[in-house]
Amino acid sequence: MTTSGPTAPDFDPTVLRQKYRQERDRRLREDGNDQYVEVTGRFAHFLDDPYSGPAPPREPLTDEVEVVVIGGGFGGQLASVRLQQAGVEGVRIIDPAADFGGTWYWNRYPGIACDIESYTYLPLLEETGYMPKQKYATGKEILDHSQAIARKFDLYRDVCFQTRVEEFHWDEDEARWIISTNRGDRMKAHYLCLATGPLNRPKLPGIPGIEEFEGHSFHASRWDYAYTGGDCEGNLEGLRGKRVGIIGTGATAVQCVPHLGEWAEHLHVFQRTPSSIDVKTNPATDSEWAGRLTPGWHQRRMDNFNSLVSGVPQEEDLVNDGWTEIITKLVAGIRTGKSNDLSAEGIGQAVELADFEKMESIRARVESIVEDPATAEALKPYYRQFCKRPCFHNEYLETFNRANVTLVDTHGKGVERITKKGVVVAGQEFELDCLIYASGFEIGTDYSRRAGFQIHGRGGKSLTETWADGVRSLHGMHVRGFPNCYIMSNPQAGFTASYPHLLNEQAKHIAYVVKAANDAGSRSVEVTEEGEAAWVGQCIEKAQVTGDFFENCTPGYYNNEGKASERGAQDGFYGGGSPEFIKILDDWRAEGSLKGMELK
Ligand code: NDP
Repeated sequence: MTTSGPTAPDFDPTVLRQKYRQERDRRLREDGNDQYVEVTGRFAHFLDDPYSGPAPPREPLTDEVEVVVIGGGFGGQLASVRLQQAGVEGVRIIDPAADFGGTWYWNRYPGIACDIESYTYLPLLEETGYMPKQKYATGKEILDHSQAIARKFDLYRDVCFQTRVEEFHWDEDEARWIISTNRGDRMKAHYLCLATGPLNRPKLPGIPGIEEFEGHSFHASRWDYAYTGGDCEGNLEGLRGKRVGIIGTGATAVQCVPHLGEWAEHLHVFQRTPSSIDVKTNPATDSEWAGRLTPGWHQRRMDNFNSLVSGVPQEEDLVNDGWTEIITKLVAGIRTGKSNDLSAEGIGQAVELADFEKMESIRARVESIVEDPATAEALKPYYRQFCKRPCFHNEYLETFNRANVTLVDTHGKGVERITKKGVVVAGQEFELDCLIYASGFEIGTDYSRRAGFQIHGRGGKSLTETWADGVRSLHGMHVRGFPNCYIMSNPQAGFTASYPHLLNEQAKHIAYVVKAANDAGSRSVEVTEEGEAAWVGQCIEKAQVTGDFFENCTPGYYNNEGKASERGAQDGFYGGGSPEFIKILDDWRAEGSLKGMELK
C-alpha cells in the first residue's frame, strides 16, 4: 500500500520497512562486538604515536595534587576549566599523547573535519573569545583550539604528557588515590576525574589472516604520513604508484577516501555497510552575524541543537543543517496541520515517514552522482538516518567515478580474509601495497580495557569486577566503592550528538560536587547504595524508550553491533534523552543537598 493524501510520499513505507529489515538481518552476526580484535600483543604497534618522537626524560613524580584528570581532550580540559572556575586549585592532567587535543590529537587523517557545526561543537568559545572560521571546522582548527584553551587556562603548567596510567588505588586511610604510571610515577590525588573519551581505542576487524599481510598497514587514527606523504589537507605524494585498500566506510573513511583516490595508483574501498552521505554546505563565518551575538549565545545554540536532534521541538532552528532538518520539518508539518495525529504513536509514525523521506533523498543523491549503476546501488544506505552516524561530504560519492577507484561491496558480509598480498572478498584476491583500517573504535567493551588502566576502589575491588554484571552509577559519573572519583563517559549519561556538550555538562557537575565536598571539609564523597540503585533502576526503565529503535537498526556501534538488548538497558545511554538528563543534573545541583551521596 502506498500512503495517500496531501502528504503522500512517492515510496511505499511497507516495502521500505521490509528492505531495511532484510539489510539489517543479513548483517547480524553471532559474535557481535567480539568480531573485533583488540590492539594488544602483536597488534599493539597500531597504537604507536606517529606524530611525536620519544618522550623526553623526566623524574618520576611522587607528589600530591588536589585533582588528577585523565585525558587532555575536550573532556579533561572542560573538567579542569570548570574546576578552576569553582576555585579548586591543584589540577594535573595526564595523557599518553604529546599534547592536548584528545581525539583531535590522534585523528589527523587527510580530510579530517567535524561535521557537527563548529559554533556548537567547539567548547569554551565565549570564554576564549574564539570564533570558528567556517560553519564546519577542520581537524587542524579544532586541534589548534584545544591547544589555545590549554594556553588560555594555563593547563600546560601541570600536565604529564606521554604518560600512561597503569593503575589507580584508593587508599582508605589517607583518603587519597595512588596513581602509578609507565613513567615510574607514584603520585597521590584527593580526587580523580576520568575523561578518557568515548572513541579512544582503535579496534581492528577480526578478519581471518589479518596478521599475515606483508604490505604496509595502519589504523586511520594513527595516520602514517611518513609512508603516504602529505598532511591532513591531502597531497599524499607517497601513494603515487601504490595500490591502496581501505577497510571501513564510516565517517572516517568518508573523509579520507577522496584524498586516497586522488593520489593512489588504485584505491579499493572495501565496504560492508554504506554510510548516508548528505550534502555539506560550509560557508565562511559571517562577521556581521558574529558581531551581533549576545552573551550566552553559545550555550543557547548548543541547547537548541541538542534539543532538536533529541526530538524536542523548538521555536526556532538556530543551526539549520542536515542534523536538525528532520525534526524541524516535522514541527513545521505539525504547525501547518500536515501531521495532525499528535499521540505518541502518531508522532512516531510521522517521524518514521519523515525519516523515509530523508533517506530516499539521500539515496536519490547517490544515484544522481555515481555514474556506474551497480556502484550507485551498492552505495545506497537502507536504514533509518540515526541508526548510524550520518555523514556529510561533497566529494566522497564523486570519488567512485574515478577510473582508479573501485568499490568492493561485500553485501553486508565484510571482508572474507586477508592474505600476505592483500584482501579477499567473495573468493577474489585484491593485491595491495598498503591497507588502511578505518574500522572504528572500541565501544561497549570493558571500561578499563578501553581506558588502558585498572581502577581499584575501596577494599581493592576493581571497576571491572564492580561492573561485571552491568554498569552501576549515579548519573553515569559516581560509582559506589570509588569515592572521590568521577567518570566522564556515556553509559547512564545522556547522549548528545555534539559530544563536547555532554562533557561540558558533566564538567560543571563534577566541579560543583568537588567544591561542595571541599566546602563541607569532607575527606571523601561517594554515592550511597540507595542513590546508585535508584539511578540504575531509572536507567533501565528509561532504556525502553530507545530500545526498540536501536533493536531494529542495522548493526553498528550505536546498537552494540546488533545486540542492543543484551546490555543496552543498563549499559547504554540514559534513555530519557540528554535534554532530560541535563535537566536532572541541573535540578539536582539546585536542590543542593548532594542527594544520593554521602560525605565522610
Ligand atoms: P565506524 O565504527 O563508524 O566505522 C567502521 C567501519 O568499518 C564501518 O564501515 C564498518 O562496517 C567497517 N568494518 C568493520 N569490520 C569490517 C569488516 N570485517 N569488513 C569490512 N568492513 C568492516 O568508525 P569511524 O572511525 O568511521 O567513525 C567513528 C565515529 O567517529 C563516527 O561514528 C563519529 O561519531 C566520529 N567521527 C566523526 C567525524 C565527523 O565529524 N565527520 C569524522 C570521523 C569520525 P559496518 O558499518 O558494516 O559495521
